Amino acid sequence: MEEAKNLGVEDSELHFINNTKIGVDITMEELDKKYDHIVFACGTSLARPLQAKNSDAEGIVYAVDFLTETTRNLLDNKEFKYNLKDKNVIIVGGGDTANDCCGTAAREKAKSIIELEITKEPPLENTLPWPNYPNKKKTDYGVLEANTLMNKDIRRYETTIDEVVKEGNKIKGVYIKKVRFENVGGKVRLVDVENTREYLDCDYLIIAMGFLGTKDEDLKNYKLSANSNRVLLNNFKYNDKISVCGDMKNGQSLVVIAIKDGIDCADYIINKYN
Ligand SMILES: Cc1cc2nc3c(=O)[nH]c(=O)nc-3n(C[C@H](O)[C@H](O)[C@H](O)COP(=O)(O)OP(=O)(O)OC[C@H]3O[C@@H](n4cnc5c(N)ncnc54)[C@H](O)[C@@H]3O)c2cc1C
Repeated sequence: MEEAKNLGVEDSELHFINNTKIGVDITMEELDKKYDHIVFACGTSLARPLQAKNSDAEGIVYAVDFLTETTRNLLDNKEFKYNLKDKNVIIVGGGDTANDCCGTAAREKAKSIIELEITKEPPLENTLPWPNYPNKKKTDYGVLEANTLMNKDIRRYETTIDEVVKEGNKIKGVYIKKVRFENVGGKVRLVDVENTREYLDCDYLIIAMGFLGTKDEDLKNYKLSANSNRVLLNNFKYNDKISVCGDMKNGQSLVVIAIKDGIDCADYIINKYN
């Protein structure tokens, strides 16, 4: 909240209530009684799950849980709950979240770091000019740190988890496999590439495969309905008193898009009440 105050938001104008979960610590009924308008900008809480044999093994951790806990441990000067030092770490996913996990694993001095990305390796030169999203291989800070520590490119493209191998309850390794997106009769399908199964030792499997929307329990607490966990709206209006914006409305996206959405949502509310 300090950042918001530093940007010029005055406490007298706006009231910050920290450490408070909407729908749990304050019910929707209480909010409804107290305020004229409510904006939900709660991001995306539901991570895409790993669907592989033994995906309940100890040592499989979702990226946001891992990053949140590690940051908390650092700030509180506590021993890391997820201690990756000298461990074999595999990160599933190739986006910004996975990149943060690669950087964290490198800083914790993991023994090995491998990142699995389901899509094809992009070319070094961009093939899709602006305003398209560029089709170009980029190496962000986290992957760069991990590449430097491992002395090689840690990324394996068109690769995913086939099976998790457990010892007792704990993860011991994984079988990975090569996959390919194929266009079959106008429909894109993910197909396995035959005879590509490979075993890798793994102590920590970090899942960073994207976000599907808002968790069922959160939607229930917010008393909002959704379609496949997404609150889909054409503009910001959920009903006369409730607006939704940012990732919670658009699905997982980028910081700049969330900022623009927040500004547009504020305009929508100003116009509505003026
Ligand atoms: C690990 C990670 C790395 C990323 N890296 C990048 C990147 O490098 N570049 C980029 O452009 N984008 C990145 N993104 C995406 C970017 O963070 C999001 O698109 C953006 O933050 C969405 O903004 P938002 O305001 O909609 O939601 P969020 O930024 O997710 O904010 C939601 C807020 O709501 C709060 N909240 C949730 N539920 C409740 C509740 N019940 N009560 C009260 N408060 C609640 C949360 O604590 C949070 O503060 C990353 C995302 C993740 C998870």
